[in-house]
Amino acid sequence: MGNAVSLPYKDRFFELRFESIGGLGAHVGGQLLAKAAVLRMGLNGAHFSSYGSEKKGSPVKSFIRLGPPGKLIRTSAPVETPDVVVVFHRALLADPATTAGLRAGGTLIFTGPPDEVPDGLARLPRTAKIIRIDAQRIAAEENSRPNAVLIGTLAQAVPFFDGDILLHALNDQFSHKHPDVAAGNAAAFCRGMAEFELLPGAGQADGDVPVIRSDPLWGYETAPPGGIILNAGSTAWNDLSTSRTGWLPVLDADKCIHCGMCDMVCPDLCLVWHAEDNQPVPAATKLVGVDYRYCKGCLRCIETCPTSAMTREPETPGLAAQLNKPLFPQLVS
Ligand code: SF4
Ligand code: SF4
Repeated sequence: MGNAVSLPYKDRFFELRFESIGGLGAHVGGQLLAKAAVLRMGLNGAHFSSYGSEKKGSPVKSFIRLGPPGKLIRTSAPVETPDVVVVFHRALLADPATTAGLRAGGTLIFTGPPDEVPDGLARLPRTAKIIRIDAQRIAAEENSRPNAVLIGTLAQAVPFFDGDILLHALNDQFSHKHPDVAAGNAAAFCRGMAEFELLPGAGQADGDVPVIRSDPLWGYETAPPGGIILNAGSTAWNDLSTSRTGWLPVLDADKCIHCGMCDMVCPDLCLVWHAEDNQPVPAATKLVGVDYRYCKGCLRCIETCPTSAMTREPETPGLAAQLNKPLFPQLVS
């Protein structure tokens, strides 16, 4: 390793925070970035993530702290005032905590389709660099993950990151376990470097974004009596839409033979069956589609379908709402 790269600050660490949802690769992306900084860029680095149950759909935060070689990193506190925030799913921007603490001269990278400017951007500093990249679409097209695309964008957005170094780190991370995905990851990374858009004028505020420290919802003074769970994760109100990573299962009714194989493998029972008029149930029930509210996009139904009636389609904005067949029509407002 030659000389270490130069960080922009001498008196403090350079800090990044990845805001994500389980299944989009934020934890692995943060690990990869910190490893590349330590092993290939001569820096000191630390990385850790915070998440709840380890499954698709849970909120994930991943923290990376970088320092020059002579400055030891002795803190493992969450990054509260990041230089860079990377948002892996655009739905997260609705929550002010996602961009909380971003420094006035910092950088926000978020995934979102072209032309869509989420409301939450106005509360960002006017001096911040705001970048949009359609990471989910690119990842889906390249058979990769959003983390590969977003690390490519980071390589362009942060001056001391080197694209070649990060691409090598990405290849090394996956080449042993998943050599089949290396080409897709490299393509996704390169598109992340090339296809992002700067959004000048999107931030409207002055100074750093205020830090938000959220208190636990329930403490000893506020917990409901008897250990009652007021918001169970398994109710009919649960919504798994944000777990999907760019793909939707779509039913072609003309090809469906109503065999039920897809329903047997669907882990969330989100396929919708209707009885034909004047026919006894269940003998003549037919598959009519998917309730996308409960579909986490695992695509097992597609792998199982014997007639290719269920196919994988890119999830464009509004497509799920357009094709949705509600399991519980009484819940639809
Ligand atoms: S992708 Fe298919 S199997 Fe997976 S949750 Fe959605 S409908 Fe069910
Ligand atoms: S597995 Fe395919 S053919 Fe069978 S019910 Fe499901 S979509 Fe229809």
